[in-house]
Amino acid sequence: MASLSATAQAAASAPVPTIDRFRRVVIKVGSSLLVDRERGRLKHAWLAALAEDIAELHGRGADVLVVSSGAIALGRTVLGLPAGPLKLEESQAAAAVGQIALSRTWAEVLAHHGITAGQILVTLADTEERRRYLNARATTARLLEMRAVPVINENDTVATTEIRYGDNDRLAARVATMAGADLLVLLSDIDGLYTAPPATDPDAKLIPVVKRITRDIEAMAGGAASELSRGGMRTKIEAAKIATAGGTHMVIADGRVKNPLRAIAEGARCTWFLTPSNPVTARKKWIAGALEAKGTLIVDEGAAQALRAGASLLPAGVRRVEGHFARGDAVIIRDEAGGEIGRGLVAYDIDEARQIAGRASRDIEAILGHPGRAEMVHRDDMTLAGG
Ligand code: GLU
Repeated sequence: MASLSATAQAAASAPVPTIDRFRRVVIKVGSSLLVDRERGRLKHAWLAALAEDIAELHGRGADVLVVSSGAIALGRTVLGLPAGPLKLEESQAAAAVGQIALSRTWAEVLAHHGITAGQILVTLADTEERRRYLNARATTARLLEMRAVPVINENDTVATTEIRYGDNDRLAARVATMAGADLLVLLSDIDGLYTAPPATDPDAKLIPVVKRITRDIEAMAGGAASELSRGGMRTKIEAAKIATAGGTHMVIADGRVKNPLRAIAEGARCTWFLTPSNPVTARKKWIAGALEAKGTLIVDEGAAQALRAGASLLPAGVRRVEGHFARGDAVIIRDEAGGEIGRGLVAYDIDEARQIAGRASRDIEAILGHPGRAEMVHRDDMTLAGG
């Protein structure tokens, strides 16, 4: 794909990235793009064109994840629900009906390009509770390894008001940081962030690049969401905060055009939110700094050396286990002299960790009575002291 327009680049004091340098991309598609407002039906031609763009990205070797809204909008048509706000149970029922059509359609349009889709429905807890987060992350990673495209939505049917995202902008940002994506594309019915609401203010100007989300930027976001999609500019700014803090760049672009990803690559107007970090360093910073360690793993000399060379910690190298931790908690890894080697998220509860310490990974299933992860702490979940 071509690089972004010269105008956009010139307008920015920071260089705007080209879309083809990204290796893992989350594309969020809003309800108003997917579902025809009058008839409440899927816009097949538009979706087929977007699938072409996705296939192009995917074909270049990038991992692609889709966060797709539209379940409620589709389901309400099928169920004949009236226009206007729905009660919670009504939108849950609509989502139950609409999600079937939504995922079938995604599976079909991607299959047309030889791409396998996998549906993931998440609730807030799947990304906010560390244990569940690790599960969702492992599944997503496995799907991507197998070159499938996860198609993700909130599990609206079981999510209730207090425990739901409610909008797919923030959900997409969480998914992007969870998956370690380096780019999040929010396809919207507006082409970016403006200095004022463009519908009412003729002087409103599009901001091509945001390097830092200041109070002024937040003030530009205003309120308003349309009837079909819940997220207005405000939730997009919230999404940008989550994404950029997690090392993911984000771009808001007009999705109403045909082949919207190609349009971004060819220089369409849009707003980039740049992160100074990348997903790996952002995550490692979080593990190193933000989490209180709940226990300690004392490892033998061989494991200590392997860890310092960048390997994962296998149960075989663990000599002793101390503390009170559950799977997903942060632990300190020390050598036998007590020196801190690093910190990481442990893949086992303490009882299980004790049982498999010093044992070969292939024996885990026989010892615990169920299969488990080969690593006690995976290197992606670990940060080395002084590193
Ligand atoms: N999860 C909702 C749906 O699929 C959409 C939320 C949103 O539009 O942001 O209908």
